[in-house]
Amino acid sequence: MVVDPGLENTASKVAAGIINPITGRRFVKSWRIDDLVPFARQTYLDLEVLLGVPLFKSRNILRTLHNPTELNHWMSRLGDPGFEPYMLPESDPGRWTSLIQAVYAFGEATQAGQVNLSGLLLHFRHWIQTHHLLIEDVFDYEDLDRSSDMLRYRDWSAQSIVFCEGYQAKHNPYFGNLPYEGAKGEVLHISLPGPQPDKMLRHHFFLVPQEDGTYWAGSNYIWRYENDQPTPESRAWLIGQLEKVLNVPYEIIDHKAAIRPTVKDRRPLLGVHPEFPNIFIFNGLGTKGASQGPFFAHHMANYLTAHSPIDPEVDIRRFHAKNH
Ligand SMILES: Cc1cc2nc3c(=O)[nH]c(=O)nc-3n(C[C@H](O)[C@H](O)[C@H](O)COP(=O)(O)OP(=O)(O)OC[C@H]3O[C@@H](n4cnc5c(N)ncnc54)[C@H](O)[C@@H]3O)c2cc1C
Repeated sequence: MVVDPGLENTASKVAAGIINPITGRRFVKSWRIDDLVPFARQTYLDLEVLLGVPLFKSRNILRTLHNPTELNHWMSRLGDPGFEPYMLPESDPGRWTSLIQAVYAFGEATQAGQVNLSGLLLHFRHWIQTHHLLIEDVFDYEDLDRSSDMLRYRDWSAQSIVFCEGYQAKHNPYFGNLPYEGAKGEVLHISLPGPQPDKMLRHHFFLVPQEDGTYWAGSNYIWRYENDQPTPESRAWLIGQLEKVLNVPYEIIDHKAAIRPTVKDRRPLLGVHPEFPNIFIFNGLGTKGASQGPFFAHHMANYLTAHSPIDPEVDIRRFHAKNH
């Protein structure tokens, strides 16, 4: 059974769903990317079959290089065999050149992709609904009865419960003390004139072509915020980025915000409650839910069903150990 109220501004619904193998100013390989990318791709393809809708699109990422130092870094990575599957020796900006202001150079990352996370949630929700597996409500911790071996929640009983609440886990009485951070991000949905390029563009921020012909433009990282709603300050920042990048007129269609479930050490949070052996957590996907979600959900499922050990790097016990 899934208990979920179907809120609108959750991280997964606001995210671009980018799978980006090469990140950071120094162009490093994203953590565990060699394992995560093939697993994620296969999982989304399987989900496409289950749900009968397209969810995953391979799209290269064009990355603007602003100066000779950045170009040098990029070129030196190209010579590293570990990076070879993820970088093209030559980039082809194609139609982007007519949409953006002149840039120093481009690099092009491959094995990247875009997951339609909001579409996945919409269709998967419908699937669990038709299989009578959805309780459309906020989970009320007070109603969880732990008095016997089986857990009881209202009219339902279960062997175990897994909390997957994104950044709201900090309010969870069982797991509220883990070192969550929570990075708010805001995005604009815009339209641009003319035919759409196929590739994603990383130029100060991301411009991601959407299936409906519009573009996802974002995002920023805000560490102090009052709530998860869009703000005029971030809208102004996003518009500033668009003005810096584009050389064509644009129209703003929508403005959204959500909070990423980031963790102090930037690693997922999987594991069991230290006192209650049938209460679990799956969280901490941070800025990379699209790539990390499938692999670690599978890892969690193996732990729950086959008792295979949790990788210590993602096990919440890494924090218990530090406290003692
Ligand atoms: C602006 C932005 C851009 C992003 N871009 C990318 C990207 O391009 N690529 C990428 O990989 N990642 C991206 N991310 C990060 C990604 O969105 C997250 O890693 C991922 O969505 C986290 O998923 P989650 O299910 O843990 O959390 P969420 O998506 O926040 O979902 C939490 C769920 O828990 C439910 N919930 C919470 N509390 C309760 C309760 N008490 N009872 C019942 N249900 C509850 C909520 O309703 C929600 O459905 C982005 C995030 C943001 C905000």
